Amino acid sequence: MGSKNIPDYDVIAVGAGFAGLAMIHYAREAGRSIHVFDKASDIGGTWTWNRYPGAASDSECYYYCLTFSKELLQEWKWSVRYPGWEENLRYMHFVADKCDMWPHISLNTNIVAADFQESTGLWLIRTARGDTYTCRYFVSAMGMISEPVIPDFKGLGKFKGPCFHSARWPQEGLDYAGKRVAIIGSGSTSVQMLPVMAQTAASVTLFQRTANFIMPGVQKPMTQEWETEIKSHYDEIVAKCRNHVFGMAFDSPVGRNLADTPPDEVQKILNEHWPRGSFRFCFETFDDLLSNPESNRVVGEFVTRKMLENVKDREVADMLTPKGYPFFSKRPPLSHGYFEAFNRDNVKLVDVNEREPLVEITETGIRTTKQHYEFDIIVLATGFQAYTGAQEALPIRGRNGLLLKDKWEEVSSSIMGVFVAEFPNLFMITGPQAPFANLPTSIEQNVLYIIDCIKKMEREGYALCKPKHDAEEAWVNHTADIHRQTLMAQGDKVHSWMMGANLRNKKPRVLIYFGGANAYYDKLRASVDAGFPEVEFEQRAE
Ligand code: NAP
Repeated sequence: MGSKNIPDYDVIAVGAGFAGLAMIHYAREAGRSIHVFDKASDIGGTWTWNRYPGAASDSECYYYCLTFSKELLQEWKWSVRYPGWEENLRYMHFVADKCDMWPHISLNTNIVAADFQESTGLWLIRTARGDTYTCRYFVSAMGMISEPVIPDFKGLGKFKGPCFHSARWPQEGLDYAGKRVAIIGSGSTSVQMLPVMAQTAASVTLFQRTANFIMPGVQKPMTQEWETEIKSHYDEIVAKCRNHVFGMAFDSPVGRNLADTPPDEVQKILNEHWPRGSFRFCFETFDDLLSNPESNRVVGEFVTRKMLENVKDREVADMLTPKGYPFFSKRPPLSHGYFEAFNRDNVKLVDVNEREPLVEITETGIRTTKQHYEFDIIVLATGFQAYTGAQEALPIRGRNGLLLKDKWEEVSSSIMGVFVAEFPNLFMITGPQAPFANLPTSIEQNVLYIIDCIKKMEREGYALCKPKHDAEEAWVNHTADIHRQTLMAQGDKVHSWMMGANLRNKKPRVLIYFGGANAYYDKLRASVDAGFPEVEFEQRAE
C-alpha cells in the first residue's frame, strides 16, 4: 500500500449504540480519527429501536454502562435497578454530550455497502444517499441482537392496522390505550411488553409457540444509600464484571454445587434467592446449574413451580409451563408482572404450537385453526437474527469480493468474534462466536482489543492485519467443542436464537462462545501480549 492512500478516517464504525460510543472514546484516546454512522435518527442502538412499552435492561443499571471514565460513573444517577429505554437513552446522550462525541456521529445515514479495496488496502463505505468514505479500519458496531426476524405468515401485509416488529416500534410512539392488541412471540420482549400494555389496552392477546422458563426481575428504586454504596465501590464492580463468567457484577462462583447439596438445603437456598430477582438466581445459588443435567432439572422444576404459583387459571398455567428442554438452553426472560397479567380479564394466551396453530393474518386480525381474532394492532415480537444478522444485511465484501454473508452460509466463523479470515482490517464488536454476556462489559473488552491491534499497526507501520485461516479454524473448533458440552446445545429443540435455531432458512449453528466471558477476556489480553498471533501483519510500502 502506498502512503498516498490516505483514508477519510482511520476508523469507520457502523452503529451508534454502546459499541459505537465506546469505539469513539478509545479511538480518540489512541489518536485515531473516527466516524460512526447509524441509520437510526438517534444514538442508542437497541434503546432507540426498541421503544416498546416496558423495554428495560435485564442487567442491573450500575454495571450496564460504559466504564472508561470514572467521572461519568460517579456523575450519572440511575433512578431504578433496571432502567427503561428512555432512561438508557438519556444515559447515552449524557455520555455523548459529556465526551463531546457528536462531531464523530452521523445519524439517519444508512450504510449500504462496505468493500475492501485490494488496490489501496482501505475499506470503501457507501451510504444509501450515494456518498462514499474510505477508512483503514472498518468496525461493525451494529449489535448482536439488532436485525429482526419477520416470519412469513400467510397474509402478512394484509392487516389494515399497525403491524410491525417490536424492534421497529414507531419512533413517534403508539397510542394503544383502549385498543385490541395482538403480540406474536413470548420471548424477553413480550414478557416485558405484555404487562405494561395490558394496563391500558382494551385487550392483549399473546400468541405463544414455546413456553419459557422465566425468573423474576424485581424492580426497585435506586436509593441514595444504594447509590453511595455503588459509587464508593466502582473499581471493584468493574473488576467483578471483567472477571465474571457472564460479565456481570455478581458474587459468583459460589463454590457450591447443587449436586453435592442435600435436597432440603437446595430448596432453602433456591427459595432465599428467588425473591431477590435478576440473573443472580442462576449464578449466586449453585455453580453447576447450567452444566450438570440433573442439577439443571432440579432448578428447572423449581423455576416452573415458582413462576406459575400466582397464575390462577390452571389451563393457562399449563400452557405457560416450559416442556421438553433444559432451563437456560433458551435465554430466560426476567418478569415484571408477566404471570400476574394473565389473571386479568383483558389478557388472553393462545397456544399456537399445539392447541391452535396460527393460520394467517387477515385484514382485521389473526386466524388460527380454531377461530378468528379481531385486532387493532399486531406486534411481531418474533426475535432477531442474532450475532450475524446485521453484518449479513449490510453487505460487507472482503478479499476478491467475498461476501461475508456467503462465507457464513454454513458456519458463522470468526476469530474470537472479532476477526474474520479474508476480511483484512475488519473488526467486529461482539461478532459471532464471542460470548453472550453483559453487553457493555463485552463491548469494552472487544473495543480495547481492537484498539490495541490498531495501535500496534500504527506504531509498527503495518497497513493490513490479515486474520489467519488456521487461527479461525482453531477458534471455530474450540467454540464448537465447548458448545457441545453445554445444555445450551439443546436450544435447537426450541428454536433458540442462541444457536440461530430461530431462522427458517438456516441450519442451527454455533454462535456463542460458552467458555466463560472472563476466560474469553483473558484470551483477548493474551493475544495482545503475544502480539496478535491470530493475524498476519503486512507492512506499509513507503
Ligand atoms: P426471542 O426471545 O427470540 O422470542 C421470539 C418469540 O417469537 C419466541 O417466542 C418465538 O417462538 C416467537 N416466534 C418467532 N417466530 C414465530 C412464528 N413463526 N410463529 C410463532 N411464534 C414465533 O426474541 P425477543 O423476545 O425479542 O428477545 C430476543 C433477545 O433479545 C432476548 O433473549 C434477549 O437476549 C434480548 N432482549 C433483551 C432484553 C433485555 O435485556 N431487557 C429485552 C428484550 C430482548 P419460539 O420460542 O417458539 O421460537
